[in-house]
Amino acid sequence: MKQTIQSINANISGFFSVLFSSAAKKAATHNKLSRHIVALNKKTSSKEIINEVAVCLKDILDYRLFAFVVKKESGVDVWLDPRMYKKSLEDIILEDFNIKRENLNYLNQTFEPDDREEKFTMRNLVSYELNEEHCYSRLYMLPQKSITPFHDEVVTLILQGCATALSKQIQMENLRDAAVVDPLTGCYNRREFENQINRHIATASRHGHPLSLFMFDLDYFKRINDTHGHLGGDLVLKKIALLVKDNMREGDVLARYGGEEFIAILPETDKNKAMELADRLRAKIAALRIPHNKNIIHITASFGISQLTPNADMNKIIQDADTMLYKAKLNGRNTVMPGLIKICSPKQEEKKIKIKR
Ligand code: GH3
Ligand code: MG
Ligand code: MG
Repeated sequence: MKQTIQSINANISGFFSVLFSSAAKKAATHNKLSRHIVALNKKTSSKEIINEVAVCLKDILDYRLFAFVVKKESGVDVWLDPRMYKKSLEDIILEDFNIKRENLNYLNQTFEPDDREEKFTMRNLVSYELNEEHCYSRLYMLPQKSITPFHDEVVTLILQGCATALSKQIQMENLRDAAVVDPLTGCYNRREFENQINRHIATASRHGHPLSLFMFDLDYFKRINDTHGHLGGDLVLKKIALLVKDNMREGDVLARYGGEEFIAILPETDKNKAMELADRLRAKIAALRIPHNKNIIHITASFGISQLTPNADMNKIIQDADTMLYKAKLNGRNTVMPGLIKICSPKQEEKKIKIKR
């Protein structure tokens, strides 16, 4: 698979000259393919590379489903387009990669429980394997039309085009992840959080933009370990991290701060917006049901919020969030401090928002 772009392009030219009777069509498809392969090699993250493969296949072959699955040390990354085939595809991936559902990490989508789902049968699905030194991946496709040997060749050329770029990128990402990511939860570790908060504080201060933090700690987590064992506790930590990450914006930064304590940087976000987000997350955590060894685990979390004030540094904004988290624990847990309480007046049915301190 270690081919240079030049040799790939030579392959493409030879191949298309045989295949296309129409010169115009041949040139158009050849141009498209070359353009995408050049673009692939300029991408600087595996996510961007996979996206480019998806765009290229859409452009040339068209598909109803495209999924790219990359094996990593911590599980598998899945890129899925569109999301409505998620359920059927997951079962296939779990079997093909011999992994558990919680080790699937979706790169490009978050899923709501009420997302429309569509089933498909394996009969229509085609899959291709890419086995490089640092990268084992599979591409799954439900093509719009039936796959011919010509389609197989096109997909193979595209995969050859992305193989070296992807392998190099994944090797780098594995190394980087090992240094900055907490292996259990996939969140940033505390050291990386401290690097990032300093950068975010500098940017927010320079531009006069708001910056908030939330810190949360799982309530009575020791009891979870005592009742369901350490593995049950670990599963809860993973599920909570996944839920919170799925409900945050792309630019937000979530880190594991200590055992069952997490912290998040919310750029461009004032305290009120941070309180709203934290309360949404608090409610989602409280509603989460985690099956484990024939039991269902529930858990709640307490949140503390703080906003960057002029001349404050990293220690001050963390300390403020920690003080609020402590208050949330004293306030009965499963709560956000400072928090928003909606008060409905029965007469006027008017909603007011009061800030609790
Ligand atoms: P509170 O509501 O006051 O926060 O009570 P708590 O029980 O959550 O707090 P406590 O600090 O007493 O217990 C935290 C527990 O978290 C104790 C520790 O064994 C557990 N813990 C820390 N890290 C991990 C981990 O990585 N995996 C598991 N399973 N447990 C962990
Ligand atoms: Mg706790
Ligand atoms: Mg704690």
